[in-house]
Amino acid sequence: MKYSVVSLLRNALAGHTVWPPQWRDAEPGPAYDAVVVGGGGHGLATAYYLATEFGLTSVAVLEKGWIGGGNVGRNTTIVRSNYLLDENIRFYELALTLWEGLERALNYNVMVSQRGVLNLYHSDAQRDAFVRRGNAMRLNGVDAVLLEADAVRGRLPFLNFDDARFPIRGGLLQPRGGTVRHDAVAWGYARAADRYGVHIIQNCEVTGLRIAGNRILGVETTRGPIAAARVGVAVAGNSSRLAAMAGLRLPIESHVLQAFVSESLKPFLNCVVTYGAGHFYVSQSDKGGLVFGGDLDGYNSYAQRGNLDVVEDVCEGAMSLMPAIGRARVLRHWGGTVDMSMDGSPIIDRTPVDGLYLNAGWCYGGFKATPASGLCFAHLIAKDAPHPAAAAFRLDRFAHGTVIDEKGQGAQPNLH
Ligand SMILES: Cc1cc2nc3c(=O)[nH]c(=O)nc-3n(C[C@H](O)[C@H](O)[C@H](O)COP(=O)(O)OP(=O)(O)OC[C@H]3O[C@@H](n4cnc5c(N)ncnc54)[C@H](O)[C@@H]3O)c2cc1C
Repeated sequence: MKYSVVSLLRNALAGHTVWPPQWRDAEPGPAYDAVVVGGGGHGLATAYYLATEFGLTSVAVLEKGWIGGGNVGRNTTIVRSNYLLDENIRFYELALTLWEGLERALNYNVMVSQRGVLNLYHSDAQRDAFVRRGNAMRLNGVDAVLLEADAVRGRLPFLNFDDARFPIRGGLLQPRGGTVRHDAVAWGYARAADRYGVHIIQNCEVTGLRIAGNRILGVETTRGPIAAARVGVAVAGNSSRLAAMAGLRLPIESHVLQAFVSESLKPFLNCVVTYGAGHFYVSQSDKGGLVFGGDLDGYNSYAQRGNLDVVEDVCEGAMSLMPAIGRARVLRHWGGTVDMSMDGSPIIDRTPVDGLYLNAGWCYGGFKATPASGLCFAHLIAKDAPHPAAAAFRLDRFAHGTVIDEKGQGAQPNLH
């Protein structure tokens, strides 16, 4: 069913009792042209673009849990393309452009809200770095505006400007950045892919890869073997586990990243704000809750819950930036497993096994990448050749030294 005013009225008259399911709960078939492992945002977007852009409809998405149960439904919903390095700017700008048209393309309200993303700076040196990043963005045709302290104060008068250890001196604003309703993205892509015949198979964990010689033949799952000449792996924090099934060791570490939401408050925060003197980012959801987060937990883990030291660190950042937040109650917090690459940038590439493709290393930035990641990964799977926008995100760049190290931190995954 296409969603429209007419379908809404028709269903309203029927007492909202006859809405069809948004996608079929498919049973696993014996064979597909392509299998995508992981029913997160990236896997579902990949299946959608395989069908719509490349005409491949014999496709199954295999998800060990339920659609939206992974990081796609756990993130802080921030989208932006305010990067420094050309490879990242161009890729994330492709994603932002796709976000801008996504609701029409999917016929689904994913609540794209371009309310702006504001990175605050607190020193002259940081201002210089932000000017440089803003110029790099503008040279790539991306919107960036440098704000001095008074302009920030005009927008967000409740921030701690002067009575702070790190006074706010200004900020770099990307007006087209903002937020997108995260789990609606999973549901929207799932529904749209299903309409093109893609099988979305939940509760189906991939437990092994079937490889003969150097070629992929299919996957072993908890619901039986499935044959496929092309297998795309998009399992976020579990990438190393999947790669190990093919005997590969990835340049990735898995860490917990936590997020927090407060009780609902009246609207007062009209953009996404990031603190420049610590790691803290915050936006206000349409329900009124403050959605915020900070650093990774500093050790490797597959647990989807974090520890109190990061809770304390995030709360300290919040109080330094916005002391009034101390009066709001935290409603809930949770964790997700993110795979941190050695240079902080993603990997969308072939693997040494023919027909086995890898989409991994999304660190903090994977949600904002979702549409571009799906499109580029679908291109790679369908054509066995990289999409121009993702050609730099190679698996072998660590061996060749052509890393894409946005922060200049070196091979220190928990710092990216
Ligand atoms: C707390 C938190 C906050 C974040 N905030 C932001 C943000 O504000 N902006 C941003 O851009 N990014 C953010 N991210 C990062 C972003 O959410 C992820 O990088 C992105 O969602 C990863 O891609 P995905 O959606 O496909 O992952 P997922 O939704 O995790 O999908 C991967 C799926 O693979 C499945 N899977 C794993 N192993 C198997 C198997 N063996 N067989 C079958 N299925 C399997 C998992 O169950 C999971 O559903 C955040 C992440 C977290 C945890």
